[in-house]
Amino acid sequence: MKYEAVIGLEVHAQMLTDTKVFCGCSTKFGSEPNSQTCEVCIGMPGVLPVLNKKALEFAIRTGLATNCTISSYSRFARKNYFYPDLPKGYQISQYEHPICEHGFIEIVVDGEVRRIGITRIHMEEDAGKNIHEGGGHYSLVDLNRAGVPLMEIVSEPDIRSPREASEYMRKLRAVLRYLGVCDGNMEQGSLRCDANVSVRPTGQKEFGTRAEVKNINSFRFVEKAVEYEIKRQIKVIEEGGKVIQETRLWDSTKGITESMRSKEEAHDYRYFPEPDLVPIIADRSWVGEIKAALPELPDARRDRFVKEYGIPEYDADLLTSEKAVAEWFEDAIRAGGQPKAVSNWMMGDLMRLLNEENKFIEECPLKPSQLTEMLKLINKGTISGKIAKTVFEEMYRSGKNAEEIVREKGLVQISDESAIEKLVDEVIARHSKEAERFRGGDEKLLGFFVGQVMKATKGKANPQMLNELLKKKLS
Ligand code: ADP
Ligand code: MG
Ligand code: ZN
Repeated sequence: MKYEAVIGLEVHAQMLTDTKVFCGCSTKFGSEPNSQTCEVCIGMPGVLPVLNKKALEFAIRTGLATNCTISSYSRFARKNYFYPDLPKGYQISQYEHPICEHGFIEIVVDGEVRRIGITRIHMEEDAGKNIHEGGGHYSLVDLNRAGVPLMEIVSEPDIRSPREASEYMRKLRAVLRYLGVCDGNMEQGSLRCDANVSVRPTGQKEFGTRAEVKNINSFRFVEKAVEYEIKRQIKVIEEGGKVIQETRLWDSTKGITESMRSKEEAHDYRYFPEPDLVPIIADRSWVGEIKAALPELPDARRDRFVKEYGIPEYDADLLTSEKAVAEWFEDAIRAGGQPKAVSNWMMGDLMRLLNEENKFIEECPLKPSQLTEMLKLINKGTISGKIAKTVFEEMYRSGKNAEEIVREKGLVQISDESAIEKLVDEVIARHSKEAERFRGGDEKLLGFFVGQVMKATKGKANPQMLNELLKKKLS
């Protein structure tokens, strides 16, 4: 590789507070346009913002969970720019004194642990939304979103590949969701990501010129947009050109990034301290309380799953990426399930069925104890692992219990040796040519004989017994 990519992500997370950051308006999504507004969030002159303590708590909680230092002195600042969705003409944000700094999160890529630094987490207000519809020569503005609290989480330029970028996003999203501070929904815009991308010749110390890619509005696109941008920049350099510092837009239908504007600098925004809000001196004992109340986080839970349940790290990682999935797993274990068996069924059939219907595990029609009951039937030999697949799907679709399904559909495994022996004899007699070939060394044919008996029993023959009998009779 002649070039190395350098990536830093700026992530905006909408906080799950009930009310806005500087007024008491509701943050509920999808209401009638402009129905959740007041003098403060539509920017009337002469009104005063008051900080929502919950938003501050959420930002501190996130900082603590990502190994940040919580600033003993923090301030808001005005970021000045004009846009119709920003009626005040400035956004209240933080600049010189963000609430959290110097943190990190860890990701695992190709079995290697990588630590990605978090430069800062600051609080700010969201803007409204311009609506261009109806085809007239006008746009509409909905200010319901204006003043919804955001956290901006800025990473160090520590990310080196598109895979690392998406892993970082995944991990960050998992942490935010575990903390209950953001729902992490990229499609609805409650989690947004801008990617700063540059390339440099491998071995060079200095960073190359970066482009900032905006509008990455789905999880899948984090990786794609970064990948495209790296290739584009390498091509520019290879052709003798220079990468220019600019803001680019990701076009997901074309799968490319396009130049939007030259990159603005901080001084363009004329940041200055927000005079209407007092500085934040977060009480240390309050910060301590927030820290003590942190839930178990994804990494810790993954490590515990490996240790406590003896499942592979790969399983543990998948099972803990969502809190609700981890809880489903542990409920099934508590109901008596074998950890590895539960994990296999969850990662395989359960996830497949949920994905087919685009469902979250919270909407899973199956209870953890139902899976455990089915596993008991397999262990007792009542049903085979193969038949269990049918039972599982039926359980998922109908909500019935495994035992009921097995009884109704007559799926009980045939473990009567003499019954299977009879079928084996019949099949071998019927297929004497294949039997000859098998005995002559064509061992692949075993599968053929298994298939014949399974067909005759509708898959219900005890597979172990069948295998042993076939081998004995064909030897
Ligand atoms: P701005 O606020 O103008 O976007 P920042 O200095 O806050 O600029 O940096 C934003 C992001 O850009 C950070 O995530 C940082 O890690 C990343 N970054 C800075 N320099 C580079 C670079 N040369 N290549 C890639 N990313 C970079
Ligand atoms: Mg930026
Ligand atoms: Zn308001």
